[in-house]
Amino acid sequence: MANLRKIRIDGSRGEGGGQILRSALALSLITQRPFAVSRIRANRSNPGLAKQHVTAVEAARQLCGGKVNGASLRSQELEFFPGRVSSGDYEFDVGTAGSTTLVLQTVLPPLLACAGSSRVSIRGGTHNPMAPPIEFLQRVFAPRISAMGAELEVELITPGFYPKGGGQIIATIHPPSKWRRIEILQTSLPRVTSAMAVLAKLPRHIAQRELDTLAGQLGLPQVQCHVVEFDNCLSPGNVLYVECTDGRVTELLSVCGQRGVPAEDVAARLGVEVHQYLRGGGPVGPHLADQLLLPMAMGSGGAFDCSELTSHTTTNMEIIRKFVDVGFTVEKRSGGGARVQVSSAKPNS
Ligand code: AMP
Repeated sequence: MANLRKIRIDGSRGEGGGQILRSALALSLITQRPFAVSRIRANRSNPGLAKQHVTAVEAARQLCGGKVNGASLRSQELEFFPGRVSSGDYEFDVGTAGSTTLVLQTVLPPLLACAGSSRVSIRGGTHNPMAPPIEFLQRVFAPRISAMGAELEVELITPGFYPKGGGQIIATIHPPSKWRRIEILQTSLPRVTSAMAVLAKLPRHIAQRELDTLAGQLGLPQVQCHVVEFDNCLSPGNVLYVECTDGRVTELLSVCGQRGVPAEDVAARLGVEVHQYLRGGGPVGPHLADQLLLPMAMGSGGAFDCSELTSHTTTNMEIIRKFVDVGFTVEKRSGGGARVQVSSAKPNS
């Protein structure tokens, strides 16, 4: 059967990170095409599978009762043979502070392609560097999925930070009865609406210094700066956010605080990212751009203006095209952003 030909993926292409694997798993479950990936996360300082990736592979396998070879820690090669996906109740546990939201990024697209609803509990980290923080999923990503006709609710049960993790999120997923095309084009310039410092078991002056620095950099009044404190978690943690809107779409840019990095430097780094986003001339920020591609391609497609064309975005296009016949048209715009058009995917021959 031609459609069961194994797809071969070089995990060192483009961005060379974990997203190549997560997108391949999601697409394999949706298209029922087996795949083999080599040189997994070759461009990362700790190549191969970390605990979060092993959990994502196991989660994908559980969803479909498929078979997998090579899903062990630090493995740089893996083969995956999917079975039919079932919606339902699932529980996954990363077992470390590895990102819960990235495990969700793996299982969400196939569960959205099912007829029935699902509820997915994932334990691990909820606020990780180089991953969507839970608030990003709630405020930015989930509303876009709803705009496509589906319903996604992501609840933070317990926050989890490095090194102990121990956090939990629960996602409730209702697939669309009919996918809707989405258009997120620039009609007016995005502006900053608020800043928020999330703080867990750390002195409050850290959050205050971060917000004071940001307020100065962005000209933001103090009344629009908020501190959210968690104490129901195992490890201390800190994430700084800036929320922006163009009146229709919300974006949330963030930087994780790090031990040894002064609060003022965390804020300055986020300030630079915010200025770059505002200059980019598109309502869709750098991270939302790469995360929208797969649901848009599996749904009814659409178009968006993004502030930046990252290598996560271009690499994800490449991986999606390996599994399905989909058109991505990219038109670079002044300011560093781009207009991306996504057609609705058809099965690859
Ligand atoms: P990878 O580096 O290949 O494991 O992929 C990381 C994923 O996390 C990509 O989808 C990024 O867009 C996403 N990501 C990283 N940092 C953030 C952030 N600050 N906000 C939202 N998403 C993020």
